Amino acid sequence: MNKYQVLEKYFGYDTFRQGQEKIIDAIIGGRDALGVMPTGAGKSVCFQVPAMLLRGVTVVISPLISLMKDQVMSLNCCGIPSVYINTAMTDRERDKAVYKILNGKIKLIYVAPERLTTSFFVSLCKKIEISLIAVDEAHCVSQWGQDFRPAYLKISDFVASFEKRPVLCAFTATATPKVKEDIEKLLCLENPETVVTSFDRSNLYFEVVKPRDKRIALKRYLDLYTGKSGIIYCSSRKCVDELYEYLRHEKYPIVKYHAGMPKSQRAENQELFSSDKKEIIVATNAFGMGIDKPNVSFVIHYNMPGDLESYYQEAGRAGRDGNKADCILLFGGNDVRIQQYFINNPEENDELTEEEKKRLKLLRKRKLAQMVAYCESEGCLRRYILSYFGEKSESCGNCSCCTGELRSGDVTVAAQKIFSCIKRLGEKERAETVKDVLKGNLTSYIEENEFHKLSTFGIMSDAAESVISEHISYFLSVGYIASSKDGVLSLSGKCKPVLKSEKAVRRLAERTKKQEKAERPDMLLFAKLRNLRKECAQKASVPDFIIFDELALFAMARHRPTSLEQMKLLPGISTVKAEKYGALFLKEINRHCSENLENQKTN
Ligand code: ADP
Ligand code: ZN
Repeated sequence: MNKYQVLEKYFGYDTFRQGQEKIIDAIIGGRDALGVMPTGAGKSVCFQVPAMLLRGVTVVISPLISLMKDQVMSLNCCGIPSVYINTAMTDRERDKAVYKILNGKIKLIYVAPERLTTSFFVSLCKKIEISLIAVDEAHCVSQWGQDFRPAYLKISDFVASFEKRPVLCAFTATATPKVKEDIEKLLCLENPETVVTSFDRSNLYFEVVKPRDKRIALKRYLDLYTGKSGIIYCSSRKCVDELYEYLRHEKYPIVKYHAGMPKSQRAENQELFSSDKKEIIVATNAFGMGIDKPNVSFVIHYNMPGDLESYYQEAGRAGRDGNKADCILLFGGNDVRIQQYFINNPEENDELTEEEKKRLKLLRKRKLAQMVAYCESEGCLRRYILSYFGEKSESCGNCSCCTGELRSGDVTVAAQKIFSCIKRLGEKERAETVKDVLKGNLTSYIEENEFHKLSTFGIMSDAAESVISEHISYFLSVGYIASSKDGVLSLSGKCKPVLKSEKAVRRLAERTKKQEKAERPDMLLFAKLRNLRKECAQKASVPDFIIFDELALFAMARHRPTSLEQMKLLPGISTVKAEKYGALFLKEINRHCSENLENQKTN
């Protein structure tokens, strides 16, 4: 088998994502690799595909025991034989795992870094052929990352202890240059093939607002998002409880989630949200691990998080289906003070020395300052985030700073700039020239006419050109600006009070997302497929997502395949899974479609 066949057969995808192939090729070729990719980019595939192609076994070092079980279960369900070894398992479970490993039945072993130094694990490793070691969440090795784990520092010794050194690869979603440097150095990666993929999520719109009253502002947004699914994040359980009571009282379709609630209730609320029975969930950051609901249309932060890593990860739960989605941060009130309190009163952590604790505190303070700077930024928000993660970019045209809250709210300042520019140009120029002057584009036409000497030249250089053009057409459409037959722009009488700051210009939200509608899957079918998935999962005693993930169900509800062959073409539906469950799901889809036809006849 080659890498494409492995990807198709076990994962159900026909193309690699950006960066995956380069890493896989390096590993198969015997070279170390380092992948810096945002959450959800598909890091696991980068070591799971090589694991199936290489002889022997791949050891995966992963920090979270709680996730290991699911990861391993999911792999086995895909047809990739895997086990985990941790302290939470019984002796019997462990013996069973070791038996399978020694009999050459296993391709991947998941362990926590603390296992690497136990004599039990070391002697086990000596008895088998280990060709690849993959380090997940590799930033845990760095004291600059927020999740420092001293045991990660032992990984390099473990790797070096083999007679024939296995290939080493490492993955992280933390891309700050310092952390990257630490990972290379402290894990002793040898000339690694390094792939850093873009952290940009272009379908997400970013907005920061400083409302006088957060509750009123929140309600305004929720009304705008009626019928859509979204998450509201708060920084404390108390805030979640209070906001939940308030919004429930105001008749919003809402549930809540935080670590102080009983487990069963959390599970129930998560299910109500995931199945679209309740559209909104208000939660602390405890809500998120393993959430892969694709059609989250908005994430509102009612409080500012402590650092941009957390913010971007939480906000990034919006728009996983690729549709446009909004990430709103309500900044103000006690936000900064709450985060300072968290820093000054950290959770007990016996693994850290006093020195390390001190350093961590300093680090968190610095990160908080950068988070606050984001909230106060006057430049492009996306550019700020991306540059924080070490990426250069242009103004995006899709954040509240670039658009000047174009889609709603006050656009007076933009209006004043555009109107005075048109005036300075003697009301003799076309929209294209007006835009170039505002943006500060030094075209030959502008030079010839000496427009670059005007005071309005470049006064909107921060905004994307598309945004300036959109403003101009908006003001045309509502009669502030007029256009002659030849496209020459002039001002109407309505502009005068605006220029004198006697009158504000407000723009109403327009949310005509025709395209989005056309692409919508059949939600009733989606709900039925989710129920079927639940039945299958209960029969097999596995979590639901292991049968098919949400995106795969979405794809089925959108495209309604009629054969196994068609089904296999959908993303996330591997040959292995289609053969296991495909027929059942096809039957359900078929029944749903014929019922719909019946209904249409009788109506
Ligand atoms: P990460 O570890 O980077 O957060 P995962 O490895 O969990 O991301 O992958 C995120 C999602 O992307 C998973 O649902 C995975 O199946 C999917 N995925 C991975 N590789 C591909 C691919 N080549 N094409 C389509 N989807 C992919
Ligand atoms: Zn922007």
